[in-house]
Amino acid sequence: MTDGYGRKIDYLRLSITDRCNLRCRYCMPESLPFIPHQQILRYEEILRVCAAAASLGVIRLKVTGGEPLVRKGCAGLIRELKLLPGIGQVTLTTNGVLLARQLPDLLEAGLDAVNVSLDTLDREQYAALTGRDELPQVLAGLRAALDAGLPLRLNAVPLASAGLEGLLALAELAERFPVDVRFIELMPVGHGTELAPFGQDRLMAALSARWPGLAPAPGRRGGGPARYWTAPGLRGCIGFISAVSHGFCETCNRVRLTSEGFLKLCLCSGDGVDLRAPLRDGASQEELAGLIQTAVLRKPAHHTFSRAPAQDPRNMSQIGG
Ligand code: SAM
Ligand code: SF4
Repeated sequence: MTDGYGRKIDYLRLSITDRCNLRCRYCMPESLPFIPHQQILRYEEILRVCAAAASLGVIRLKVTGGEPLVRKGCAGLIRELKLLPGIGQVTLTTNGVLLARQLPDLLEAGLDAVNVSLDTLDREQYAALTGRDELPQVLAGLRAALDAGLPLRLNAVPLASAGLEGLLALAELAERFPVDVRFIELMPVGHGTELAPFGQDRLMAALSARWPGLAPAPGRRGGGPARYWTAPGLRGCIGFISAVSHGFCETCNRVRLTSEGFLKLCLCSGDGVDLRAPLRDGASQEELAGLIQTAVLRKPAHHTFSRAPAQDPRNMSQIGG
């Protein structure tokens, strides 16, 4: 399907829960009230939305949260999503805490790739940033995914508190292992306005000094907005996703479904359409598809982060990143 600006929308991100086993300071306060269970889409409802989206041309799904692996049966959902006609790829974004434990089920379900979010390799900093001392579990998850040969990407939000050495240590994972390490600019969504980011230009300069010859990676990697860099000696790439400073809205290909069934058209805007009420009021697949298509035509041309924080009271944990 195309939106009102002629952009092809073929990617849907699914937040399957607002709950999480971490409390990353830029994402989720310690005491956020959770959405009551009955207001969260059931798996069969998520599958109906995805089938409708697939009938309109969505081919890629990303399962996210909150933390998707805290919701019981996540692997089972992925297995069902993989069976939907038209869906070519189902991937997962996780904090990695439960990854090692659930990896066999995820592999068996046919998961195509996993993104693990990790902002520091320092155990104390990790505990201070996430509110939980879970770094060893995350590293075990990374190791298990690598050993299993599951395509793996690491996503890091570069924060001033991590320090240059800490960020370089993360980037070095792309030297030690065949993983892409992507630096995702802190966005002014929810609590993202409360922390200091590490400057992108300074980070890029340090990466270039660490790997002389760092150059744009040839070809296109992934279907998303990351810009990738490579250098002799790197087994994976180093990526930058800079939504705020280097907007890529003109090639945006995605919409998002919150765990309550709200189809959100842009990270920055509160506009979208509630699909839970029609789902529960007996809407047909054609009617669901019609609602999605009509909403997508209203997708904003671009975000307005440079002028103001997101015009949506939801936290990133409720949106899914
Ligand atoms: N819990 C899973 C995880 O952490 O990967 C999935 C959900 S989380 C909301 C998805 C991604 O959003 C994470 O990589 C996280 O770092 C990122 N994120 C959360 N708040 C953010 C913000 N304000 N700016 C940029 N990225 C943010
Ligand atoms: Fe949880 Fe992910 Fe948000 Fe961290 S970024 S609090 S892991 S949802």
